[in-house]
Amino acid sequence: MKIAVLTSGGDAPGMNAAVRAVVRTAIHYGIEAYAVMNGYKGLVDGDIRKFERNDVGMILNRGGTILGSARLEEFKQLEVRQKAVDHLKALSIDALVTIGGDGTYRGAADLCDMGVNCMGIPGTIDNDIASTEYTIGFFTALNTAIDCIDKLRDTSFSHQRCTVVELMGRHCGDLSIFAGVASGSEIVITEETGFHREDVLDKIRKAKQMKKRHMIVVVAEHMLDVFALAQEIEDYTGYETRATVLGYVQRGGTPAAYDRILASKMGTYAVELVRDGAFGHAVCARGIEIFSMPLREALAVKRKRTDLYEYLEKIS
Ligand code: ADP
Repeated sequence: MKIAVLTSGGDAPGMNAAVRAVVRTAIHYGIEAYAVMNGYKGLVDGDIRKFERNDVGMILNRGGTILGSARLEEFKQLEVRQKAVDHLKALSIDALVTIGGDGTYRGAADLCDMGVNCMGIPGTIDNDIASTEYTIGFFTALNTAIDCIDKLRDTSFSHQRCTVVELMGRHCGDLSIFAGVASGSEIVITEETGFHREDVLDKIRKAKQMKKRHMIVVVAEHMLDVFALAQEIEDYTGYETRATVLGYVQRGGTPAAYDRILASKMGTYAVELVRDGAFGHAVCARGIEIFSMPLREALAVKRKRTDLYEYLEKIS
C-alpha cells in the first residue's frame, strides 16, 4: 500500500507534526509514504517524493509546513484535477491525506468524486471547520495573539489609551473571542456579535467617564476598518486611541503542545482510516475523542457559536 500526504491553504503551526505522524504511522504499518510538495500545485505538477522516517525528523516543533503550501485556483477545474489524478495513478498511490482548511477539504472531496481516496485533516489557525472542535494551529495562533495583546495592553495602560487590535480568522470569530476572553479585552467585534457602533462607543465613553485607564477592543478581520474605528472612538469618547493589525505574525511560530498532540493523533488516525478501508473521510476531534465523517458531510456541518461570548459579557 502507498499513502501520500500534502499540506494546503494557509499554513498552520502543527502541520509538520501531522505530516510526521502520517509518514511514521504509515511506515509503522508497512505502508510506503510519499510527500506532495506545495499542496495541490505540487500534485498537478507531479512533485511527489518518497519519504522515509528520517525525512520527517526534527520537524515536530517547527512552524509552517516543510512540504510547502500553495493556492491553486485552477484546481477547481476538472482538467487540472485530472493531471493530479494521473500522477497519483502513475505512482500507484492508494490514498492521499490532505492537511488544510475547508478549501482543501473541497479539493479533496472533488478528488474523491474522481475515484481518489482522500482523507482530510483540519489544519488552519482560523478554527473554521465546524466538524471538529479545534483545528491544528488554532491554539498556537491564540497564544501568539494573547501574547501580543498583553504587550499592547502595557502601552495602553501606561498612556491611558484605548487600543483596537485586528486579529485573523477569515470569517470565523473564534480567534478573536478566545483571545478577547483570555487577554481580558473589554470589547470583541466579530461576525457573530455584529458591529453595533453606538453600543461600542457608549461602552467606551462610560469606561472613560469612570476613569478606566485603558480599553482593548478586539476586531476580527473583514469586520471593519480598525484605523477608522480608532479615529471614531477618539472623537466620540476622548480616549486617545491606536489601532494595530496583527497580521501574519499570528500564523507562524513553534506549535503549542495541544497542536502537536492533536496533529500527532489526527495524522495517525488518518492512516488507520486508510488501512481499515475507509474512503473520503475528514478527521475530527471533540474533547479527547478522535473520530471521522465523510468529507462532504464534514463540509456541511454548521458552526455553533461558542459560549465564550456570554462569559465576555459578564467579566469584561
Ligand atoms: P484553506 O484550505 O486553508 O481553506 P483555500 O481556501 O485557499 O485554503 O484552499 C486551498 C486550495 O484548495 C485552493 O488553493 C484550491 O487549490 C483548493 N480548493 C479550494 N476550493 C476548492 C473547490 N471548491 N474545489 C476544488 N479545489 C478547491
